[in-house]
Amino acid sequence: MAKVKGSKQRILDFLLSNIGRVVEARELQEASGWAAEWGRRVRELRDEQGYQILSHKDRADLKPGQYLLETNRRRPAFKREISKETRAFVLERNGYTCQMCGAAAGDPDPFNPKRTVRLTMGHIRDKSKGGDDTPGNLRAICTNCNEGLQNAAPQKPDRIHLLAQIRRATLNDQMAVLEWLQRKFDKKV
Ligand SMILES: [Zn+2]
Repeated sequence: MAKVKGSKQRILDFLLSNIGRVVEARELQEASGWAAEWGRRVRELRDEQGYQILSHKDRADLKPGQYLLETNRRRPAFKREISKETRAFVLERNGYTCQMCGAAAGDPDPFNPKRTVRLTMGHIRDKSKGGDDTPGNLRAICTNCNEGLQNAAPQKPDRIHLLAQIRRATLNDQMAVLEWLQRKFDKKV
């Protein structure tokens, strides 16, 4: 992982030379040297180093996937406060499934065929709006939803429709559903 430091620095250099201009996710990706974890590097610059990188969560005139650094002034950096235990608790509670799009950890990544879906902690009420790092304010979110790559969360399936789909599915798919449900509820019964 020797590239990690390099990619974060490259993203920062790019943002600092584009202060006041709205940049697209793709530009940041490119600036990072196409690092797989470019989104996480952006979050670290914001949450750990205090750079005030704004996104659609902060400003209504920014679209998902757009970022804006307005100033090179840094906020006093706040630490990464989500403990391993909290993270594990939230992931388990959410069935290791993105609460926006329903993708599960390990599913093929729809935006990058070479990777699998990875889950991260999403804040229900954003930190910039006073949200905290307690389990009640956290949910499992895939990195794609977290970066705003998927604009809209699909509607939650209604029960009748869902059951109808499962009844029509192949036996193999029904077994996969059964195994997934057993895994999910095993520890709780
Ligand atoms: Zn998702």
